[in-house]
Amino acid sequence: MQRVGSIKDPVMTFDNVSVFFTKKKFLGPKSVIKAVDSINLDVGHGEIVAVVGESGSGKTTLGRTAIGLQRATSGKVIFTDNNLNVDVSTARGRRWKELRKYLQIIFQDPFSSIDPNMRVYDALRIPLQSQGVRDKKEIEDRIYKVFSEVGLPSDLLWNYVFQLSGGQRQRVSIARVLLFSPSLVVADEAVSMLDVSLKGDILNIIKKIQNNFGVSFLFITHEMAVAKVIADRVAVMYLGNLVEIGTADKIVSNPLHPYTQALIQASPTIDPSLRETLRTVNVRGEIPPSNAHPPGCKFHPRCPFVMETCKHNIPSLKEVENGHYVSCWLY
Ligand code: SF4
Repeated sequence: MQRVGSIKDPVMTFDNVSVFFTKKKFLGPKSVIKAVDSINLDVGHGEIVAVVGESGSGKTTLGRTAIGLQRATSGKVIFTDNNLNVDVSTARGRRWKELRKYLQIIFQDPFSSIDPNMRVYDALRIPLQSQGVRDKKEIEDRIYKVFSEVGLPSDLLWNYVFQLSGGQRQRVSIARVLLFSPSLVVADEAVSMLDVSLKGDILNIIKKIQNNFGVSFLFITHEMAVAKVIADRVAVMYLGNLVEIGTADKIVSNPLHPYTQALIQASPTIDPSLRETLRTVNVRGEIPPSNAHPPGCKFHPRCPFVMETCKHNIPSLKEVENGHYVSCWLY
């Protein structure tokens, strides 16, 4: 049987992946936070999949789980490339170190991952050496090559990281992940701190890396307009579940789930003529806390189209047209 959201030849398969955290208040009862709840999703070789949702949807936890920074509570995260077929969530020791080369992450804030008081050259040299690359000439060649790939002039290599602009620092972050010829990169809100023109530059670099090197991306964003520009497919996430999956074109031009429709209407930079074709979806209130998921459809307390069945029964993801899945009792 075909799995939901499955494609041919995936580099990564999330197979029924859940990530739960237990929180205990002083003298209070334990509560379980279901950050990621039974996710099934494939990412193809050379494909960009955008995971879109509000803060608290679980998209960052899913991204961290993809590269093993967060262990799955249950389910498998299968990486298939470079003669490996490994469950990332159980990899340890040497296998884990090897995997780290192929699974990389770009953070929202480059300062969180690169010491600002380091010279740029050293920020690129140290990770190479920590992966066992010792030859000075090879290190230099690899650094100059990735620096030119991200469009930075080589004289900046001798600057300190704190001397770079926000856009330059994000380019250095991308150069760092390219050092290892990764198979899959998680870009976690990688452009959300940049202004519009720099955003466009970084998105172009990511597209170029996809096209030139066949790198796959799990692109995490709260901005549907960014997802539309960068992604091949879009997966919309709400309270730990995927509620809609499809090609970027389909999701933006024909969104089916009321939550997806609301995200598109709230996206000021999406083509206004597209937004005008959508019915108005007035979503109520805020996303609930992740330890208090509503029963039935988790979106029902906010949904303007709620029906009685939505309050009690969980809709499954159904394929409503080729490769376009939605979990909503309206379909
Ligand atoms: Fe709204 Fe019901 Fe669909 Fe949930 S299942 S999104 S409550 S219509």
